[in-house]
Amino acid sequence: MKASVVNAFGGGFAVEELALAQPLEREVLIDVKASGLCHSDLTLATAGIGQPPPVVLGHEVAGVVIAMGEDVTGIELGDHVVASLIQFCGKCTQCLSGHTHSCLHPEATLRAESEPARLHAGDGRVVNQGYGLGGFAAQVLTHENQVAVVPKALPFEQAALLGCGVLTGAGAVLNTANVQYGQTVVVIGAGGVGLSTIAGAVLAGASRILAIDVSDGKLEFARIFGATDVINSRQLEPVHAVRALLPEGADYVFDLVGVRAVIEQGLQMLSKGGGLYLIGIGAGTTSVELHTLGLQLNQNRIETVYMGNSNLKRDIPLYAQMALAGRFPLQYLVSRRIALSQIDEGFEALKDGSIARVVITDFEH
Ligand SMILES: [Zn+2]
Ligand SMILES: [Zn+2]
Repeated sequence: MKASVVNAFGGGFAVEELALAQPLEREVLIDVKASGLCHSDLTLATAGIGQPPPVVLGHEVAGVVIAMGEDVTGIELGDHVVASLIQFCGKCTQCLSGHTHSCLHPEATLRAESEPARLHAGDGRVVNQGYGLGGFAAQVLTHENQVAVVPKALPFEQAALLGCGVLTGAGAVLNTANVQYGQTVVVIGAGGVGLSTIAGAVLAGASRILAIDVSDGKLEFARIFGATDVINSRQLEPVHAVRALLPEGADYVFDLVGVRAVIEQGLQMLSKGGGLYLIGIGAGTTSVELHTLGLQLNQNRIETVYMGNSNLKRDIPLYAQMALAGRFPLQYLVSRRIALSQIDEGFEALKDGSIARVVITDFEH
């Protein structure tokens, strides 16, 4: 089967013919129909943080189950599924407390060192699967804990985005921050995850949702997703612009960017008791200096967000149902469809303000 491989950090993506093992025990083999491009894959492909080459990245996968190991339960052959990078064991204290995103033994979804690897190149060389998935490929072999079943009525290209971007953005609002009816929200960065954050704030019943971006195109998307006000931070100083609309500051600020200047601005936008939520990872090298007394007096908190504190088995089917019911504008996230060989161009296209999300739908070319 064809897969797009990162052979060296910064070396880009190259299509190769790879071989997958047969599913064992609790593994599921998915014929991939759609695979989303998430910006963190570009970061992983360029800055060595955790997924060593040669590796197949890609962690927003939708497809059909075509084979599975004998111990899989709750998933049937022919099911339409979404696979996610959240790896959980189901047995540790975090999992048993409902915090599967914080599982203490994520390696439980991987094969043991003593078992044959799942993915090989033609010459027998082992190829790694990013997060136990490897979604930039025509097929994915993964553990059933990384897979959720979705309704067959949901188009694959939309379903794929539930695997990371939607889980992260909407989950940050609904799970991590637990925004309440009538509260105020600022979202900095209106890319695919930021738009899902806005949609989550609508579901939570936020009274004002301010979207900030440098692109008017992305801010137009933000309005479609439910932003009540938009601010182009190239034209307006963002802290002043937020304070003009919300004189007491915002209850919640979600930072999708992850660079120092934006984090510092985000803190200055907070109301008394308000919280800043760090979602964006920048280039993976950001550090900030905090004036702690100011934060203490204003009773502010800073919280990191990992995958929107999501439980993928609960949340992916939930968002799928909401999309089908017209409660989540998932269809507007799919801006462009590409072939497997066009991943580098796809990431380049994401810099364009008119593009929310790029999805691979052709795995033959
Ligand atoms: Zn992602
Ligand atoms: Zn666990």
